[in-house]
Amino acid sequence: FIGDYHAPKELLKDKIILVTGAGDGIGRTAAKTFAAHGATVILLGRTTPKLEKVYDEIEAAGGPQPAIFPMDLNEARIEAFEHFAEAVDQEFGRLDGLLHNAGLLGQRTPIASYHFDTWQQVMQVNVNAAFGLTKVLLPLLEKSDAGSVVFTGSGVGLKGRAYWGAYSVSKFATEGLMQVLADELDGVSNIRVNSVNPGATRTNMRAAAYPAENPASVTTPEEIMPTYLYLMGDDSRGVSGRQFNAQQ
Ligand code: NDP
Repeated sequence: FIGDYHAPKELLKDKIILVTGAGDGIGRTAAKTFAAHGATVILLGRTTPKLEKVYDEIEAAGGPQPAIFPMDLNEARIEAFEHFAEAVDQEFGRLDGLLHNAGLLGQRTPIASYHFDTWQQVMQVNVNAAFGLTKVLLPLLEKSDAGSVVFTGSGVGLKGRAYWGAYSVSKFATEGLMQVLADELDGVSNIRVNSVNPGATRTNMRAAAYPAENPASVTTPEEIMPTYLYLMGDDSRGVSGRQFNAQQ
């Protein structure tokens, strides 16, 4: 457990880090936290005004100027990912960190009544888009001296739970993708690949999943950042193929 990791202020100085789903929730806080530790962050998400707000907050806090890339991961196909990778290559020439954070909850309903279309959307955003982005960005991550890929898992992606449907299955698949990629890169690349389970965290998604819960009783995104910083920074060099819990 490294949730009590203490990150030096300059931990991510000069690093280029992509955060998906950077406009809200955990992704928004991760982008701001990485910037506060010196990183130039690329903010990818589907709602441009939200990304612009995060951009402004980072600038106002004196962080390195971020980049914004609007993309709907449910609509995007491989051409859009390739176009994005070219843009990152032209602007930065490499990528040091990739946080797959964007996620869709979908329905909370039994498999027997789960909508086929919703199932496909959840798998598209949570798994297929993460695969596509990773695939096109690997050459840019290779150009970093120590690239870090971080996938976002969930407790229901480690043990199945009734009514969590595609979300649960997508998070199992996310762990699988992390493990397969980590194994492929082991010994032949400086890129490390891990996953983080945020644990219950105060966001819109959590509120949607647990409407009766008092949000004030739930851990904030800020409180789970030590694990994210550890995984993006050089202190986790050489650590790969592992699943981390951001909360005890
Ligand atoms: P939020 O719903 O608060 O944020 C999700 C982010 O993903 C938003 O920025 C959202 O954009 C973005 N997103 C959703 N769909 C798309 C899409 N089609 N294209 C691009 N971006 C998209 O969720 P959290 O911050 O809580 O979740 C972040 C990650 O953590 C997810 O992977 C989630 O599964 C995981 N997680 C969260 C837990 C929690 O308790 N909060 C617990 C376990 C795991 P927009 O705002 O524009 O809709």
